[in-house]
Amino acid sequence: MAKYCGADCRICRREGQKLFLKGDRCTTKKCAIEKRPKPPGQHGMGRKKVNEYGLQLREKQKTKRAYGLLEKQFRAYYDKAARAKGITGETMLRLIEMRLDNVVYRMGIGSSRAQSRQIVNHGHITVNGKDVNIPSYQVKVGDIIAIKENKKENALCKELKGAKIVMPKWLQFDTEKFVGSILQLPQRSDIDLTINERLIVELYSK
Ligand code: SF4
Repeated sequence: MAKYCGADCRICRREGQKLFLKGDRCTTKKCAIEKRPKPPGQHGMGRKKVNEYGLQLREKQKTKRAYGLLEKQFRAYYDKAARAKGITGETMLRLIEMRLDNVVYRMGIGSSRAQSRQIVNHGHITVNGKDVNIPSYQVKVGDIIAIKENKKENALCKELKGAKIVMPKWLQFDTEKFVGSILQLPQRSDIDLTINERLIVELYSK
């Protein structure tokens, strides 16, 4: 499926919840969900009741869009989780959470997942001292994530310096030294988006 190129806020309104796609704007009164909580389009309020399949599809679309993934990428995470031991839905979310772009976002480097992906793409990040510019790179427990030495004087770091960032307990990031690490595997309770992964598993396992 092609990349979505429309307005980000439209996605949130379609899914009926904040997906935090636009960085700082998402926590202000300018947020479209605050201003216009109804679904987009002329018939937004008049949508029919959705059936079970519709619910499953919406949950998948919402999760995929929140993380900025294409269908093929998202499906690949499900397939990998289905082959692994453990609860498929939780494993799938854990794999997605441990993408480098998401980790960078959760550490507060970048105000949205899209911006964090760009930061990774543009070569600002190292993992265990080596340059990594692949947003989908899977981090591991113990990995050291840092902003590259020659990027520490740029506007992003100046803004980040000394900031108090609330991050999940599986991550740590020092905003003075711009170095952080993966302390443990993310637990289900560490995922801050409202996701019913059971519906996604039901959809894909048909
Ligand atoms: Fe979603 Fe952020 Fe737009 Fe609000 S401002 S609707 S949370 S993308």
